[in-house]
Amino acid sequence: EPILKLSGLTKTYNKGKPSEVQVLRGADLEIRPGEVVALVAPSGAGKSTLLHIAGLLDTPDAGHVAIGGQEMAKLSDRRRTQVRRADVGFIYQFHHLLPEFSALENITLPQLAAGTPRREAETRARELLEQVGVGPRADHRPAALSGGEQQRVAFCRALANAPRLLLADEPTGNLDPDTSDRVFDALMALVRGTGLSALIATHNLELAARMDRVVRMDHGVVA
Ligand code: ADP
Ligand code: ADP
Repeated sequence: EPILKLSGLTKTYNKGKPSEVQVLRGADLEIRPGEVVALVAPSGAGKSTLLHIAGLLDTPDAGHVAIGGQEMAKLSDRRRTQVRRADVGFIYQFHHLLPEFSALENITLPQLAAGTPRREAETRARELLEQVGVGPRADHRPAALSGGEQQRVAFCRALANAPRLLLADEPTGNLDPDTSDRVFDALMALVRGTGLSALIATHNLELAARMDRVVRMDHGVVA
């Protein structure tokens, strides 16, 4: 059974206006457990839209999203929010860390919100930070970290509650090429270490080639 199944997704922005743009035109995609898939397409092709719909951050005009074999449209809003928080980790191009909290706290907070005891949450946060090489910087706020370190912390936060599915939107897209390569290595090590399933949007073909499968978006469908 696929961990993520998208079927017949359509999405149009600004319907009926001169600025109308049909971004998805029946997009289908399946991700099997443990599979790491690259989503490759030029800017503006609809990668963010597809990821947001898959991550339950946006809704399609038509089509279906199933996570772990469960059809999301059939769930209550409350249950869907639970699935989004517990089963899906999301990484953006920019870290979106909370500026007033340390790296450690940024990874601890989502665990506390999920009901994990503080001691356990902090231990897990430290382990994750060690794995991505930011252990010694755990008590720094995001502003005191480099761009690469900030993004590594964001990876840890996305994995804090041990999701089943990771969705990443150009996760190293705002870093210079050298940093991007190293930070991407850290992400792949984290993902492979947990056997997590992932859909990672990138327009870097070298990074894409290191994943299990590459899918392309073209004219609103996944080729
Ligand atoms: P990508 O991630 O591949 O760059 P996006 O999904 O961000 O693509 O955007 C696809 C197209 O939809 C672009 O033309 C973008 O400007 C447009 N778009 C995205 N989000 C919105 C929105 N909320 N309202 C209107 N247009 C949008
Ligand atoms: P990305 O680099 O992830 O593709 P974008 O800059 O395209 O990011 O989009 C950032 C956010 O703005 C997304 O949530 C997207 O849905 C929204 N967005 C993108 N294009 C438009 C648009 N033309 N009008 C309104 N919102 C948009």
